[in-house]
Parts: sequence; C-alpha cells; structure tokens
Amino acid sequence: MSPGRQVANPRVSTNHDIHVKVYGTARASRAYAIRDFLTRGDVPFEWIEIRSDAQAREVGLENIADRRMPLCVFSDGTQLESPTIRQIAEKLGWYHGATRAEYDLAIYGAGPAGLSAAVYGASEGLKTVLIERYIVGGQAGTSSKIENYLGFPAGVRGADLAEAAREQALKFGAEILMLHEGVRGDFQPGKGTGYLADGTRIVAHATICATGVSYRRLNIPDEDRLLGAGLYYGAGASEASLCPENEHVFVIGGGNSAGQAVMNFAKYVAKVTMIIRRGCLQATLSQYLIDRILANPRVEVLYHTEVTDLHGESCLREITLTNRETGEQRTLPGKKLFVCIGGDPHTDWAIEAGIARDAEGYILTGPDIPDLLQLPKPWPLERHPYFLESSIPGLFAAGDVRHGSIKRCASAVGEGAMAVAFVHRYLAAS
Ligand SMILES: Cc1cc2nc3c(=O)[nH]c(=O)nc-3n(C[C@H](O)[C@H](O)[C@H](O)COP(=O)(O)OP(=O)(O)OC[C@H]3O[C@@H](n4cnc5c(N)ncnc54)[C@H](O)[C@@H]3O)c2cc1C
Repeated sequence: MSPGRQVANPRVSTNHDIHVKVYGTARASRAYAIRDFLTRGDVPFEWIEIRSDAQAREVGLENIADRRMPLCVFSDGTQLESPTIRQIAEKLGWYHGATRAEYDLAIYGAGPAGLSAAVYGASEGLKTVLIERYIVGGQAGTSSKIENYLGFPAGVRGADLAEAAREQALKFGAEILMLHEGVRGDFQPGKGTGYLADGTRIVAHATICATGVSYRRLNIPDEDRLLGAGLYYGAGASEASLCPENEHVFVIGGGNSAGQAVMNFAKYVAKVTMIIRRGCLQATLSQYLIDRILANPRVEVLYHTEVTDLHGESCLREITLTNRETGEQRTLPGKKLFVCIGGDPHTDWAIEAGIARDAEGYILTGPDIPDLLQLPKPWPLERHPYFLESSIPGLFAAGDVRHGSIKRCASAVGEGAMAVAFVHRYLAAS
C-alpha cells in the first residue's frame, strides 16, 4: 500500500470489495463529509490522501490544488468530481421521491426508533414511508461499537446495525426517503401532512416523530470556520483509522458516546485527551467504559476543564483549555477535536403544528402531557392520548425526541415498535 493510502472501513478486506475510492487532501472539510457519509452508510470505501503534485498527477489530477477533489471513483468506473452528498446518494441509488399519494404511516427520522417503527409498520401491512434528512442510523450510526445492545455480545458497529435495519425495512416494503428533511406539519384527525424541504407533501393517516436529538455546539469563536477542518461533532467513527499513529486527539464530553470515541481513538493514536467539565466520570459514563478509560495508558482525562478557544487559519492547529475551578488557561497543539456533548431535540416545527413540548423542546406524550385543558391546540377526543401519542391525535413520538425517554438504542428500538402498536389502535378506532 502506498503512503497516504489507508483502508478506512473495517469491512474492506480486498480491492474488489471496494465500492468507492475517494481522492482528496487530508484536511478538506468536503472530504470529511464524504468519508462520514460513506462510513455511516456502511459503504466500503478507500480513502487516498493526496499529499503532493506528483501523487495528484499519478491519478490523473493536475496538482494538489485540483478543484476536482474530492474525487470519487466507483467500482463501475463512474467518477464524481467534487460531488455533493446528494450526488453520491443518487449514484448509490438511495435518493428518490415518494411513490404514493397517501400512506398509512409516515415516520420522520431513521435512527433506531424510526427504523424499528418502519420494520414493524411495514411488516404488519401498513403502507409505510420513512423520511430521513441525512442517512439511516441516527446517532447510533455514528457509534464505533455499541456494546450493550441485546444479542451482540461482542458489540456491533452502529453503521452495521443501521444498514441491517435498513435492509429489513425495505424487505418488508417500507419506502425510505433519505436526504429529505421534514420541515413543517399539519396534523388533522385521520390525516397528517408533512412538508419536506424540497416542497414534497407526505400525506399519512398516522405519523411517528422519531427525529432524535442533534449535536450540541460549543458556542465558542471560530467554531463554524474550523468545522470539518480539525473540529468535528460526534464520535469520529470515520476518522479514527485515518489518524497518524503519533496524533494527539482531543474528545470533549463525559457521556457514553464520548467514552466510546475515546476508546476507539486509543486503538489508533499515541494519545487521547478526554475533556470533561465535571470532577468525575461516574455520573455520566457506564462503569465498563470508566474502567477501560482509566486503565488505558494512552488516555488522559482532564477534569473541570472546557475548551474556550480554537486557533488555526485553514485548519485547527491549537486548542485553549480553561480550568473551570482555577481559571488557569493553557494552549496546546491540537489538530483533531471531537465534540461529543450530547444533543438537543429539533422540534421547532412542532410549535407551529400546536404540539405540546416540555421546556427543553422534547415532545410530551401520553401520561406526561400535564393538562389536556391547557394544550397549544385543544385535544378533540374523549379518550386520553395513548402512551406514546402526542397532544395531537394520530401523531406519535418515539425515541430520544420524546420527553422522558431513556436515550439508549434498545429503548429507542422498543419505542419505535410500541408506537406502531398504538398506530394500529388509533387507525382501528378512527
Ligand atoms: C456516538 C454515540 C454512541 C452511542 N452509543 C450507544 C450505546 O453504546 N448504547 C446505547 O444504548 N446507546 C448509545 N447511544 C445513544 C443512542 O444512539 C441513541 O439513544 C439512539 O440513537 C436514539 O435513537 P432515535 O432514533 O430516537 O434518535 P436518533 O438516533 O437521534 O435519530 C434521529 C434521526 O432523525 C433524523 N432527523 C432529525 N430531524 C429530522 C427531520 N426534520 N426530518 C427527517 N429526519 C430527521 C436525524 O438525521 C437522525 O437520523 C450513542 C449515541 C452516540 C451519539
């Protein structure tokens, strides 16, 4: 293997297994976006880093600044020059529109909850459509190894789990619309209309909202500018194997997703620094991860610490850390910073639709709806909302987006399945 050539997806074992070759320069944010998309989509790919004009010419490019990069070459010979994610999805056959004028069940969000709802809905005979703004898997799809999901004693890569669920949902006849974002909804008894960002209307008798949470940001200067160029949100599953062995990687966050990321990076790089605001890991991290982190000589944990400044022109070069107790600041060389500090629900659309939410924006369902007489929109039925039903009849919520949910893969999958049971009950009654 030539220098700069690394197999990025552990499923890639031989050249003829490789579906896509991606040529690009190391720190280009577009190249990162493509690697992330292919990793989360479980598409085997080879990342070929272009480090010199000579190397660029070897593969038919003019020089290291050639604007055709990132260049994607598919196994059938198709080349996509500096493609958008949508162009790649189209090439993979993943981008298409709705085929029906009306569905029994529309599900928004293809994380574990939405995928589970799609499998159960479609397998139980409902005309089901699953709408996902990016790619299947949700947060779970970004995990390098989920170790507490039932039935996988050796752990399972999130992208593998998501791809298997996608295949299962398709097998039962669910339609999956990837790279389509639901932006607005109008929900009347027996008929909900979801509006997608491209103007498409999705009409369904019942709807499940499984839109999960989105990464929380640091809210510090230069965050947007360095995003994808050294600063990344999430666990960096696509990046770990690409880091040079002598790299020092920083991970912010004290939860299980950060802990998993730390352990994954520690397999590849010389040093991983975990930055947490609290004084201990016990409150936020599972014991099995705490034990591994504290026992790993490559891992350092900085307590009571936060990142307060980022430095670098075109890419991240240094990171300023501040001790929250003493106020002491220090600036360290750092080219890779992964932010795993949890997320917030994206439910602004629910305000316009008149759906009751809690103070943090999570959707209230069933017994958690405090007072049916004080709703944004009056509850029109004699019965109370079903367990996972929102304050609008026929609109259900499942997984992390729901107030009081457990924020685990298994519970999201369970709620997706349960929500379908309530959809049946709702459809039968209406
Ligand atoms: C790195 C990482 C590791 C983790 N590891 C574990 C673990 O080991 N064990 C465990 O039990 N849990 C783990 N979790 C938590 C677990 O993944 C989540 O609890 C679970 O994914 C929640 O599933 P969900 O379907 O409710 O939401 P999400 O996974 O958040 O999925 C929501 C989906 O909705 C989509 N979406 C959002 N808005 C819209 C819209 N408007 N239109 C269309 N689509 C939309 C999003 O793109 C996303 O794909 C981990 C989380 C992370 C981030």
